[in-house]
Amino acid sequence: MAGNPDDPVLTLEDLASWSFRGTPLAVLGHPIAHSLSPPMHNAALAAMAVTRPEFSSWKYFRFDVPPDRLAEALGRLHAADFQGVNLTVPHKVLACGLVADVDPAAAPIGALNTLRRTPAGWRGFNTDGHGLATALQHELGVGLRGASVVLLGAGGAARGAAVECLARGCAALWIGNRTRSNLDALLAVLAPLAGPIPIRGFDPARPPPDLPADAVVVNATSAGLKPDEPAPIALRRLPAGISVFDMIYNPPQTALLRDAAALGLRHANGLAMLVHQGVRALELWTGATVPADVMARAARAALPPA
Ligand code: NDP
Repeated sequence: MAGNPDDPVLTLEDLASWSFRGTPLAVLGHPIAHSLSPPMHNAALAAMAVTRPEFSSWKYFRFDVPPDRLAEALGRLHAADFQGVNLTVPHKVLACGLVADVDPAAAPIGALNTLRRTPAGWRGFNTDGHGLATALQHELGVGLRGASVVLLGAGGAARGAAVECLARGCAALWIGNRTRSNLDALLAVLAPLAGPIPIRGFDPARPPPDLPADAVVVNATSAGLKPDEPAPIALRRLPAGISVFDMIYNPPQTALLRDAAALGLRHANGLAMLVHQGVRALELWTGATVPADVMARAARAALPPA
């Protein structure tokens, strides 16, 4: 056991002497010390317990689990009566082969971030797309239905975002990625899901000249996680009316968001996406209404100082 005594970093060895008598939830990752999910979920559960006292015995824990022990971890957490599990790096894809069944909406994403207990094992969900769609609506006033979306990246987060854009009926999807082979692999996965929606791949160094003026740019690359990393696209080469969403929330200001501010474009970072994927997960586990504002405040308070 390590870290904050109220929210320690646990390992599977801590399950050997597990004595918690309430309803446990957990996030698994490797590393996991940086995760904002435990303070976010525990703040929401405390607020929910004011009107629904049964939630006062629920608690959300963090476990550091290396990828080669994920199968063991999921089996042991199920045996220890955990009600729900969140998964973060590097477990989201691995988990697909370890659950009893998968929510049909999550199947095309090929990655799970939320597991709900069933008697037969875990049922897998992916709430990141819901988090993105809700964040775009709340932070930028952009609804994905009918939107022109410029998505940057071709990794796991980009795949989830692209599936959500298609499922919600976006008007068109442009996807830009640094490495062409990874872009082509993503385009091949998306082709059968697109129906009449046009999808075009591009090199971010050469943005398409024909973007609609009201497009929304969504950064799903990790460019910007490290301080002073350059933006993954030159916003000044895009139309003047676009809005910009960066999935990165730590640091809260990336080069892309600084450029957006300098150009007077509407913009937001990824904190609201994190919050709303968490809201949806807690709704799935509890079946109750979840206070998003409480989760947002707890997440902001738990962020390291800029
Ligand atoms: P992956 O490692 O799966 O994918 C990384 C992507 O970023 C690839 O497309 C890669 O391109 C691209 N990339 C990496 N470095 C650079 C760079 N310097 N310049 C341009 N492109 C680059 O990561 P994920 O998809 O899991 O995560 C992507 C981002 O989304 C992360 O920053 C993560 O923190 C964030 N995220 C935020 C969430 C939220 O709730 N707000 C939820 C999930 C993710 P290439 O193919 O060329 O290597």
